[in-house]
Order: sequence, then C-alpha cells, then structure tokens
Amino acid sequence: MSERMKLYDNHGRVINYVRLAVTDRCNLRCFYCMPEEGIDFVPRPMLMTYEEMLRMMRALAQVGIEKVRITGGEPFVRKDLMLLLRGLAETEGIKTINLTTNGTLTAPFVPELKALGIKSVNLSLDTLDPKRFYEVTRRDEFDKVWRTFELLLKHDIKVKINSVVMEGKNDADLIPMVELTKNYPVSVRFIEEMPFNGGEAHENHWHWRRILGKIKEFYPETYKIQDEPHSTSYNYAIPNHSGTVGIIAAYSRTFCGTCNRIRITPQGVLRTCLYDNGVMNLKDMMREGATDEQLQIALQDALNNRAKDGFEAESRRFMGLPASESMTTIGG
Ligand code: SAM
Ligand code: SF4
Repeated sequence: MSERMKLYDNHGRVINYVRLAVTDRCNLRCFYCMPEEGIDFVPRPMLMTYEEMLRMMRALAQVGIEKVRITGGEPFVRKDLMLLLRGLAETEGIKTINLTTNGTLTAPFVPELKALGIKSVNLSLDTLDPKRFYEVTRRDEFDKVWRTFELLLKHDIKVKINSVVMEGKNDADLIPMVELTKNYPVSVRFIEEMPFNGGEAHENHWHWRRILGKIKEFYPETYKIQDEPHSTSYNYAIPNHSGTVGIIAAYSRTFCGTCNRIRITPQGVLRTCLYDNGVMNLKDMMREGATDEQLQIALQDALNNRAKDGFEAESRRFMGLPASESMTTIGG
C-alpha cells in the first residue's frame, strides 16, 4: 500500500488536523465569547454549503488531513448537521471526526453520533451550578447540557469537558469541576481565557500555573501523566479518580511548537493559527472554479508562510490590531 501524503509547514510541523466551523451562530451568549446582543452574523449565501465543505475536505484528505473537528458557533444550530457528519464519515482518508458542542441541542443526535463512529466529543461547560451557568451563558439551559453529558457517557463516547476559567465568574467552580472526575471517566480541561470575546476588555487572570496551583492546593497528590502527541493540554491524574484533569494554556500559547492544526471558518477562510486573521478564502476559490489541485497548492503555499507561534501570528494581523473578534467566528 502506498504511503499517505503528509503536509508540513515551514517549521517542519506535520499538519493533519482541520477544525471546521460550520456556523457562527449560537443559541448561547457565553460572555467570554460573544456580546449579549450577538455579532453581525455571516449572511447565509456567504456560508460554505455542506457540499462545499465535503468537497474541500476530500481535497484536503488527499494531501494528508486525517482528522476533522466540527465546531462553530454551535454546530447543532446549523440545519441538518447530520448530513455533513454522514458525508464526512464516508470521506476517504478522514480517520477521525470529533465535535465541540455546548450540549444544549445535542442529546437527540447522540445515538447517531455513536453509529457514525464518533468516539470523542468536547462539551463546553464552565460550571456545575445552574445559576452560574445562566450568568456565564446568559441562557437557562444547564439541564439540557447535563442530559447530553449523561447520554454521551451512556453511549460510551469519550467526553472532554472544556471549561474557561474566569476571575469572579466561575473560579469557585474550579474544584467542583475537578471533583467531577472522581466518579465520572471524563477529562476536565481548564482553558485560559483568551481575548476572542467580540471586543470587550480582556485580561486573563488564570494563568495555567495558577490553575495548577489551585488544583494541587486541594489535591496535593495530583500527578502529571503523559500527554497525547500534539496535545494542547497538560494532563494530570488524581489517585482514585476515574477521570483526568487538563489545562490548556491557550493565552500563554505554550503548545505552538507541536501544532498540527489549521482552521476553516464558516465562510471558508483558512486560518493557519488561531491568532491570525485569515490567510485565504477557500470557499471563494471553489466558487471561482478552482480545481482540487489548486486548493491543495494554495494550502501548501499558506503553510510555507506559517507563523511559528500564536504571538507571531497575532503580530502579523491586519494593521497590527490585536485579536478581539468573537470565538464564534473561528470555532475555538
Ligand atoms: N459552541 C460550541 C461550544 O461552545 O462548545 C463550539 C464553539 S466554541 C467557540 C469552542 C470552544 O471555544 C468552547 O469550548 C469555548 O469554551 C471556547 N472559547 C470561546 N471563547 C473563548 C475565549 N475567549 N477564551 C477561551 N476559550 C474560549
Ligand atoms: Fe456559543 Fe460556544 Fe461561544 Fe458559548 S462558547 S457563545 S456556546 S459558540
């Protein structure tokens, strides 16, 4: 059997993972992500269609992309999401499909996610307290997220909980979230707050070392475990806990050296780093008649000029302006 092609960037990093944001719309308004009034959402004709996404993923899989994560906005807000997931499951070369979801609309689809071979879902949940959930997301939907959590576990789908740590908002939840790993076989990952909130002032008060310090204060026996290759999280275990704890230094940007991912926004913009502001529009290329080969060459050209880390990517942004757009436009 012939060896599969591999994509590399100009820093010798292998690129085999796409994060595909299928919509910028969302039914929650997490305050670290989007202003209460929302943002100027992308007009529908400017969104990539599912056909375009599948064609693009076929072309990218031919040159070495093996893993795709569906994100958004909230993926399940987009109509007929399962059509896309079914198409991806049949795409040659795509070995892993994962999903990041807020869990509010996900529950009815869990059995089919399982049937499609989706083995792991990232569930965003910043608090276990319904009142605080409302304060963070501006919506009263905690019970639905919890139902999704239970259903995913029941279907033996691995759950990684994403939890952004915010001063004065949910820092009281940090230890209860760790406590969750005692009886549930989940990975709870704490994320440093990033500036992608749609223009509000930003300050990250919870550096990853402070998060780790807090966990160790309560669980002194916490110990480091092996991180998966290309992992963005530092991972830890606590004796007698069924799950594990991770910390994602997303603002400190400590993981760039092994970054294997690219991002594609709902309107088809390629971002070779979370912190850049887009390097080309693949949807426009497709609509202008580009062949698969032209898409593949354009991707390689972009990777030949990839920033070495998130700091360099941010410094190269349009007019040097810092990142502040809503994460719902990028997908995390
Ligand atoms: N709506 C889905 C969800 O919430 O899981 C998927 C999209 S959401 C933009 C993807 C991830 O980005 C979520 O886990 C969310 O917590 C994270 N996120 C959003 N804004 C962030 C910020 N300013 N700093 C750190 N993480 C953020
Ligand atoms: Fe929606 Fe996810 Fe952003 Fe929250 S983090 S507002 S759920 S897109």
